Amino acid sequence: MNMPISQSMKPTFHLLLGFALASCGPVEQGPPAGVDLILTNGKVLTVDADFSIHDTVVVDDGLIVATGDASLLQRYAAPEVVDLQGKLLMPGFVDSHTHIRGRPNHYIDLTEAGSVTEIQQLVRAKAAEVGAGNWVTGYGWSEDQLTEGRRPLRDDLDAAAPDNPVILTRAGGHSAVSNSMALELAEVTPDTPDPEGGVIERNPDGSLNGVIRERQYIVSRLVPDATPGELIESLEVNLNDLLSDGITSIIDASKAPAEYAMWESLYETAGLPLPRAALQFQWHDPPAIAAVKARVGDGNEMLRIGPIKVFADGGFTGPAAFTKEPYHNQGDYRGYLDMPEEDLIAHLNEIHDAGWQMGIHAIGDAAIELVAATLADALERNPHPDHRHFLNHFSMRPSDATMELMAAHEIAITQQPNFTYTLEGRYVENLDGWRLQHNNPLRSPMDAGVTVAISSDILPIGPMVGLYAAITRKGMTGAVYAAEEAITMEEAIRAYTATGAWLLFEEDVKGSLEPGKYADMIVLSDDLLNIDPERIMDVEVEQTWLAGELVYQR
Ligand SMILES: [Zn+2]
Repeated sequence: MNMPISQSMKPTFHLLLGFALASCGPVEQGPPAGVDLILTNGKVLTVDADFSIHDTVVVDDGLIVATGDASLLQRYAAPEVVDLQGKLLMPGFVDSHTHIRGRPNHYIDLTEAGSVTEIQQLVRAKAAEVGAGNWVTGYGWSEDQLTEGRRPLRDDLDAAAPDNPVILTRAGGHSAVSNSMALELAEVTPDTPDPEGGVIERNPDGSLNGVIRERQYIVSRLVPDATPGELIESLEVNLNDLLSDGITSIIDASKAPAEYAMWESLYETAGLPLPRAALQFQWHDPPAIAAVKARVGDGNEMLRIGPIKVFADGGFTGPAAFTKEPYHNQGDYRGYLDMPEEDLIAHLNEIHDAGWQMGIHAIGDAAIELVAATLADALERNPHPDHRHFLNHFSMRPSDATMELMAAHEIAITQQPNFTYTLEGRYVENLDGWRLQHNNPLRSPMDAGVTVAISSDILPIGPMVGLYAAITRKGMTGAVYAAEEAITMEEAIRAYTATGAWLLFEEDVKGSLEPGKYADMIVLSDDLLNIDPERIMDVEVEQTWLAGELVYQR
């Protein structure tokens, strides 16, 4: 399926069409204006206010000059004219909640692993790469996603890497599996008592199965620190990879001020093209954050400081999100706030009064209602026009009154519809009835008048899962959760582009293809507006353009 298409999209295809067509234009217009780049014969989703669809985009100096029909070819001439062959071109995705990190060489990303066998292959390959005796680490496996329907265990890892210590952390970070060599180095034996607050899992015969819950640091503490060089090199690769997913801008949540220096030096020296990034700092160390902010001002068009990050509650893998009703089959357990309620309220007021925009992690319905009420009170006490505070996640549907309150006070959301798909197992385990059905609601907050952006939170990073779940409301099993919460593809695309730019106060320069904005654009293999929904996750990004430069070609 991809060969003929990707061949034809290669740069050899960039015809010198501009000269040919310009010469047959109406004489009375005068000579065509010279520009850098024209892309034509496409289905160009501008994502402007009317969701206008054109077929031609004119780019000069990294910015959109015009969008329209093929008559633009008579008004403009460019040395590079790309025939889109009817393909869909749209703004690059703005992933308004993600986490991109540099990783040590011994690290394996397991978030996309589909089977225990695949994990074994990845471990085997990494062990060969780092050499016998060296650590292999990984993160992100989930039994819900593995075809065997079970967790990887000590024996699986021993078979893959008998001569390397290995520890692989489950998605969510609440448990990890180690192989025999890692357990030996950590002096964890069948006789080791469970650490306080944790569990060393044992087989019925008393032997270790390799899994340690909550206190896996008794093994992972032995893993050597990564060197700064390793981290910055892999951060560059990981950021560059986003371009192949069509992501041209991100908000990276919860960074420490110290990490900003690394990002700055990377953005100054990078050899690979990188997406535009805004970093959210946590408020743990206000003087340190203020010092960074004072030093760099608002950053530049590639890297800047974003909103402040606050955690209101926990997540769903524990589960630890703070809910109004107890979790399904878990006694009266309702999760918890990240800090005592009065501290959280004081914290939010303090940041609001400092005049800083906030992106607040709130997942459980109780946390969402508390944060919304606190922000509304703060805004009434100290109005701050155009504050653009927003909630990250919004995974459980709160009361209608809360959504109305958020709309009235212009409190926005960046939400992850992809969770409906990838976290289905967690929701089914921990929620029930109406609140299970309405997980990650989209239609109801939008209808209430709340501004809703869509983002990935790297579960997974690729935007197609989010688009798929936003319009189908399907989990991995194919079950549909509250179909009435679905939104249209047009709405989902806007939420994943223009609305993300709005959250960053950058709607004047990105998020849509309009004159004067950055030419951050992607070409897709299929027409998202006319596709069988079951095929959305197969749609590929064929080209990514950043400021008018081709930075990714499939
Ligand atoms: Zn996150």
